[in-house]
Amino acid sequence: MSQFIDGKLVDGTTGQTVDVIDPSTGETIATLTQAGSDDVKLAVQAARDAFPAWSRATPAERSAVLTKFAALMEERAEEFAQLESRQAGKPIRLTREFDVPGTIDNIAFFAGAARNLEGKATGEYSPDHTSSIRREAIGVIGSISPWNYPLQMAAWKILPAIAAGNTIVLKPAEITPLTTLLFAQVATEAGVPDGVINVLTGRGSTVGAELLRHPDVDMLSFTGSTSVGRTVLEAAATTAKRLHLELGGKAPFVVFDDADLEAAIHGAVAGSLINTGQDCTAATRAIVHRSLYEKFIEGVAGLYAQVKLGPTSDPATDLGPLVSRRHQETVAGMVERARGYARVIGGGIPSSENSELAAGSYYRPTLVADATPDSEIFRDEVFGPVLAVTPFDTDDEAIALANDTPYGLAASAWTKDVYRAQRATREIRAGAVWVNDHIPIISEMPHGGLKQSGFGKDMSTYSLDEYTVVKHVMFDLTGASTKQWHRTIFTLPSETLPATNEGGAA
Ligand code: NAD
Repeated sequence: MSQFIDGKLVDGTTGQTVDVIDPSTGETIATLTQAGSDDVKLAVQAARDAFPAWSRATPAERSAVLTKFAALMEERAEEFAQLESRQAGKPIRLTREFDVPGTIDNIAFFAGAARNLEGKATGEYSPDHTSSIRREAIGVIGSISPWNYPLQMAAWKILPAIAAGNTIVLKPAEITPLTTLLFAQVATEAGVPDGVINVLTGRGSTVGAELLRHPDVDMLSFTGSTSVGRTVLEAAATTAKRLHLELGGKAPFVVFDDADLEAAIHGAVAGSLINTGQDCTAATRAIVHRSLYEKFIEGVAGLYAQVKLGPTSDPATDLGPLVSRRHQETVAGMVERARGYARVIGGGIPSSENSELAAGSYYRPTLVADATPDSEIFRDEVFGPVLAVTPFDTDDEAIALANDTPYGLAASAWTKDVYRAQRATREIRAGAVWVNDHIPIISEMPHGGLKQSGFGKDMSTYSLDEYTVVKHVMFDLTGASTKQWHRTIFTLPSETLPATNEGGAA
C-alpha cells in the first residue's frame, strides 16, 4: 500500500512502481505503486472535505489529539528509527538520537502551540467601530518534501499546518516515502480525523507537479532544491497560491583568529558530516583566518580520517552512505573537478576491496583546501561529506566571503570576542547564525532562509504564521442607518447624519 488517502492506506492507481532502496546495501526494501491524477484528486478532495470540521475544532481539541500522537510516537520510536535508517541510509545512532526524538519533540511543541495563536488586541481604532482580528486556517495545503530528513521534514510540514486547523496533502521524495506514510498512520491512530493528513507517493515531475497546480489547493509548502523551488514558484504564480519555500544552502563557517581552535575543529567535523553532509545547514565553506589556516586543516583532516564508515544498523557507525548511487556519482564528480584547482585531502569512494562498504553508496569525508571563492566546490551545493576551506586576512574580508553566495540559510562564527560575534550575527545574511557552534536546532526557534534559500519559517510559533491568515472583523458601533462616510459616495440632508459618527471610509 503506497498512498494514504482519507485515513486509509491504498495502492496508487498508475500501476507504475518506484523502488525504495537501502543505500547502505543496495537492497530494495519496498516497491510502491505511484500515485496518479486520480489519487491527487481523491487526496485533495479528502483534505477539502475534512477542512470545515478540523478548522472549527477548538485549539484544545486539536492539542489533545497531538498530545496523544506524541505519546504514540514515543511508543513506536524504535520502529521509526529503524525504518528511517534503512530508507535514507542514516546510521541508527543518528535516527535514534536526532531524527526521531526531534520529531516527537516537534509534535509535543505543536500540541502546545496550537493553543497559542496570537493577534492584535480588539479595540476602537475608529470612533464608530470595534475592530478585531480572527486568525484562521488557510485551507488545503499542498506540500512537497525532500529525501535528506524524510521524517523530520514530514513533521515540519504537517505539524504547524494541522495545529493551525489546515488539512494537508504531502508528497515526500519518491526514494524515501516510508516513514512519512507511517507518520500519517500513527497520527490517524492518535485521533487526527480522516482526510486531515494525506500522503501521495511518486515522482515530483508527475504527482508533485499535479499537486502544485490543483485548483483546490490553497497554499504550497515546499522544501527541496532551489532549482525545483523555482518550478514551485511558477506553479504558485499561475494559480495565485500562497507559498512557503525552504530551499538550498551553502553555510559558511567563519573561524576568526581568536577562536578556540580545538572547538572550531570539532565543530567543523560534526557540522560538515551530519547526515553524511546531506543537510541544508551543514558547514560547507570553512573561512579560516590565515594564522590558524594550516592548523585547522590538519586538525579537521586528522579527525576525518578517524570517522568510522560502516553498516547503518551498527551503533558504532559514525557515517552512513550517500542516499543513492546517482548522488554518490554527483559528489565524486564535483570532488574530481576540484582536484584541478584545489588541494583535495583524503576522501573519495571507499575501495571496492572493502566488501562491507562496496554494496552501498558510501563516500569518505573529504577536505578541499585552498578552494577559491569563485570555484564550483565553494559556491554550489555538494550535499555530501565535503568541506571546502579558504583563508582570509581581515574581518571585512571574512564577512564578505561569508555573504558571497546566492544562498542564505545558515552560518556560524567562531570567536571569543563579543564584538566580533555581534558583528558577524548582524552582518551575515542567513536565517540562522550560530556562535561557537553549528547545527543545533530546537522546536521553539524558527528555521528558514534568506536570498535563494527561500522564505518562510519552519518550527516555532513563527511557522503558525505561515499557515494562518489574519482576518479583520469590523463592527459598526453607531447603529445609524446613514454614516458620515456615506457622504463621500452620495449626499444626504445634513440633519440625518448622527453627531458622533466620525468613522471614515478605508
Ligand atoms: P529536490 O528539489 O530534488 O526534490 C524535493 C522534492 O521535490 C521531492 O519530493 C521531489 O520529488 C519533488 N520534485 C522534484 N521535481 C519536481 C517538480 N517538477 N514538481 C514538483 N515536485 C518536484 O530536492 P532533494 O534532492 O530531495 O533534497 C535536497 C535539497 O533540499 C537540497 O537542495 C537541500 O538544501 C534542500 N533542503 C532544504 C531544507 C531547508 O530547510 N531549507 C531542508 C532540507 C533539504
